[in-house]
Amino acid sequence: MTLYFGVDVGGTSIKTALVTATGQIIVKQAFATQSESSVEHICLKLRGVLKESLQQTKHKLADVAGVGVGLPGFLDLRNGIILKLPNIGWENIPFIDIAEDVFGLPVVMENDAKVAALAESWTGAGRNALVLVCVTVGTGVGGGFVLHRHLYRGVNGMAGEVGHLTVDRNGLACHCGRRGCLETVASATAMIRRAKELQQAGQMPSQVAIDDAKTIFDLAAQGDEAAQQVVRETADWLGYGLSMIAGTINPDTILIGGGVSTAGDAFLKPVTDAFRRYALDLVSQAATIAPAQLGNDAGVIGASRLVSTRESLRR
Ligand code: BGC
Ligand code: ZN
Repeated sequence: MTLYFGVDVGGTSIKTALVTATGQIIVKQAFATQSESSVEHICLKLRGVLKESLQQTKHKLADVAGVGVGLPGFLDLRNGIILKLPNIGWENIPFIDIAEDVFGLPVVMENDAKVAALAESWTGAGRNALVLVCVTVGTGVGGGFVLHRHLYRGVNGMAGEVGHLTVDRNGLACHCGRRGCLETVASATAMIRRAKELQQAGQMPSQVAIDDAKTIFDLAAQGDEAAQQVVRETADWLGYGLSMIAGTINPDTILIGGGVSTAGDAFLKPVTDAFRRYALDLVSQAATIAPAQLGNDAGVIGASRLVSTRESLRR
């Protein structure tokens, strides 16, 4: 049986799975991202996880055709180099060479949100989409476009980098080095920052530790007005961002994934309302907004798909 080792590197955790050729996960694991660790160290750790996963499921290393890795940032696929991961801080790392040395297996990489889009278009909510936009909202905001079943990368892999569209010209500083990017106002990080501001201004219960977006959604559901305001503002920015993307590529399907999407309708509904307000009618009418289906598994499934289709410019 041919297996693929899918890896999804995120701002807070690294997820892995052994995946079959049809996209079924047979075992998965996760561990915390230690961004200060060297990439060699993380690859060694991942090799250990792969061996454990094989032992648990009674498979051999020879069954594994390769390793696919989703990474949250800018990549030079041709040369196998991580250029910059804005929210982790890694820069200029010859990732493929390092990882292939450690694993002794072919390794392919791709942007995390593109990988999620690929997974959703393969076995998830984008299966029937002609023009699919998949936006992930978590630590950062990422995007992937699958046009007529083909992952669209642009000329140097930067297509879909929607988190760094400037939506507020004089806005907050972003990790990419510029200001006012969509992810400075429409990510989990932005929600937490805004909620903490309101908490400090005495508008939210001071005894609640706001360290994730879920806490804010929970407060909003309990009727906290400041938390509701944070959700409304974030959703409005995201809907605005989506209207610009949709106005550019006219999709039939827009999927929202990433950590924040687990809030369900409490987020999706105000995002959709805002989108419909900002987008041209004909653009809006053509597009369905839906939650991504594969949740936390999208990254590892899409990363495996990369290997099975050799969806990479390098090999
Ligand atoms: C990065 C994207 C990534 C997104 C989600 C952004 O800051 O630029 O490449 O897809 O975060 O992780
Ligand atoms: Zn930015």
